[in-house]
Amino acid sequence: MSKLTELVIATGNEGKLAEFENLLLPLGISVFSKRDYPHLPDPEENGSTLEENALIKAKATFEHTGKIALADDTGLEVDALNGKPGIHSARYSDPDATPEKNIVKLLAEMATQTRRTARFRTVLVLYPFEGGHLTFQGVCEGQIIGKRRGNEGFGYDPVFMPDGYQETFAEMSKSLKNEISHRGKAIQEFSKWLNG
Ligand code: IMP
Repeated sequence: MSKLTELVIATGNEGKLAEFENLLLPLGISVFSKRDYPHLPDPEENGSTLEENALIKAKATFEHTGKIALADDTGLEVDALNGKPGIHSARYSDPDATPEKNIVKLLAEMATQTRRTARFRTVLVLYPFEGGHLTFQGVCEGQIIGKRRGNEGFGYDPVFMPDGYQETFAEMSKSLKNEISHRGKAIQEFSKWLNG
C-alpha cells in the first residue's frame, strides 16, 4: 500500500511520460517531469546493471527536485550474443549510435546464428523509499528476426517479434505493444504495488 501523492518521472521522453501519466493520474498521484523541471540532470549512466543505472537517474532526479523519483532503464538481451547489447543497447553501434546503426550491427552479428531468442528487460526504480529504493521489473520474451519489419515504435522494434505474435513491435498498435511490452509489464508491477 502506498501513500504517494506526487512523483517526478526521470525521463525526457514524452511517450514514456504519457504511459506513466495514464497509470498515475487516475490514482490521484500528481506527476512532475522535465516539463516542470527543465534542468533535470542527465547523469552519466555508468552502472553495470539496469538497476544501478535506473537508481543513478532516480537519485539525481530526487536530489534536484526534492520529490520522490521514478526512473527506468531498459536493455535488449540476445542469447546468442551472451546477453548483449544489454545495458549498452542505446549506444550499441558506437558512441554516436542511431537506432538504424544499432539494428545494422545487431543483424550483422546475428546473420549466421540459428538461435534467435532474446528479451527486453525494463527495471523501474523508486527512490527514496524507506531508507533505500524499490525495484519493479518487466520482461518481454521474443526473437530477433532476420530483416526489419514495420514502421511504428522506436529502437529495435522492427527486428523484435514478441513470443505469441506474428508481428514485430514495429508492426503492432501502440496499445498492444504497451500491454505486452517489458515497460508495460514493469509499469503493471508498479501499479500492483501502488494499489496494495
Ligand atoms: P532506455 O533505457 O529506455 O533509454 O532504453 C535503452 C535503449 O534500449 C533504447 O535506446 C533503445 O535502443 C532500446 N529500447 C528500449 N525500449 C525499447 C522498446 O520498447 N523497443 C525497442 N527498443 C527499445
